[in-house]
Amino acid sequence: MLDADFFRRWMAATAVSVERGAERLTALDSPIGDADHGSNLQRGFRAVVAVLEKEAPGTPGAVLTLAGRQLISTVGGASGPLYGTLLRRTGKALGDAAEVGEQDLAEALRTGVDAVMQLGGAAPGDKTMIDALVPAVAALGDSFAAARAAAEEGALATTPLRARKGRASYLGERSVGHQDPGAASSALLIAALTEAAGE
Ligand code: ADP
Ligand code: MG
Repeated sequence: MLDADFFRRWMAATAVSVERGAERLTALDSPIGDADHGSNLQRGFRAVVAVLEKEAPGTPGAVLTLAGRQLISTVGGASGPLYGTLLRRTGKALGDAAEVGEQDLAEALRTGVDAVMQLGGAAPGDKTMIDALVPAVAALGDSFAAARAAAEEGALATTPLRARKGRASYLGERSVGHQDPGAASSALLIAALTEAAGE
């Protein structure tokens, strides 16, 4: 079973990966965006770690809803409301249980990803974070490791795609040949689950 501490470790591990990967995420956001994805997420996840320490929410659902609210209020770019919605809606779907199973998390995360698709209007293949998140959620029923591999594969597979949503879509055909930064950061978020689980 996964308790509030597991979810705190998940957010903390994501924050560490974002710190390590910030330069790469910003570099990915430079040819097909405005070179701020790494710094956007750095600001956001630093704030998430700080608010979780300060308020110490006691359930998995409360950890994720607080983290999501914090991302929405601290990240200016498109990714803030999108990741914020992902975590907030996933947290809401987990309810107020003190511990949840891996299958509960898989289902809740699917609800969260659906909410991101509703908010941003992106579908799989549009070269966004959705291209990493959808395969990850599908594989989460098997294991965290499978979800991690699926997210990494989904992120790499955005390279040949043409962007249809977000800033990169303004480039049209010229967005082809570059990996989507949000798909790359989603792979970090999902990979952090294996770290929180100590795998
Ligand atoms: P901004 O584009 O405002 O500068 P960021 O650089 O932080 O914001 O985030 C860009 C990432 O957000 C993209 O790489 C993409 O994965 C994701 N993104 C942008 N628009 C959408 C959308 N409508 N739906 C899903 N993801 C999106
Ligand atoms: Mg950007």
